[in-house]
Amino acid sequence: MSKGGRSGATSLISGVNVFQEKVFGNKESLFRQLGEGQHPGVLFITCSDSRINPNLLTQTEPGELFLLRNAGNLVPPRCSAPSGEAATVEYAVAHLKVRDVIVCGHAKCGAVAGLLNPTSLDTLPAVKSWLGHAAGVVEETDRVAAADPAADRLEIAVERNVLKQLDNLRTHPAVADALAAGRLRVHGWVYQFETGAVTAHDPSSERFVPLAEARREKFAAPTEAPSDAPPTNRSI
Ligand SMILES: [Zn+2]
Repeated sequence: MSKGGRSGATSLISGVNVFQEKVFGNKESLFRQLGEGQHPGVLFITCSDSRINPNLLTQTEPGELFLLRNAGNLVPPRCSAPSGEAATVEYAVAHLKVRDVIVCGHAKCGAVAGLLNPTSLDTLPAVKSWLGHAAGVVEETDRVAAADPAADRLEIAVERNVLKQLDNLRTHPAVADALAAGRLRVHGWVYQFETGAVTAHDPSSERFVPLAEARREKFAAPTEAPSDAPPTNRSI
């Protein structure tokens, strides 16, 4: 349908027709099964950027990823103000009991680029305000860049932003409780959409390394679900 350009509503409708006529039938049993409830294992937090397709990247089917997307893959820290991000994190971790949360930044992120060049956001006040949840990322970027002047500043910032959002994520009570109970793992990834490469943060070396090098057990299958797990037959 799309060749990397702009898809209008007409082409989307054509896509729905193709899905209904040629795709749905092959997955009908899966969709009927999902009608009984969802049991995703992973909360996948990434940018709204159109160049990212989490299910394509991870080769997952409907029902496997609980998704949270916004500009810059930000997670506002715990605060009193209601937010969709807080609700999504709470629902995924406390109710659906996902076993892993992945914050996935990406190459050439416009939101992170805006962090590095605030004047570019003068006509985007909502974006500028939203990026307040990435406070400190520019300073961290400058610190890392000073030690490695040849490195690409935007690439550094994308990685530092992922780490900042993991810190924000840990402030949420549901996440803190699950981490303390040893039933949740959090991961930081960066996706290079132009090459398909993915790097993962390695806490032991404090570096982002190719995902293939990340220790497999960090993404091991979860242990048996707690017996008091609430029913997960509600969608959101
Ligand atoms: Zn982005």
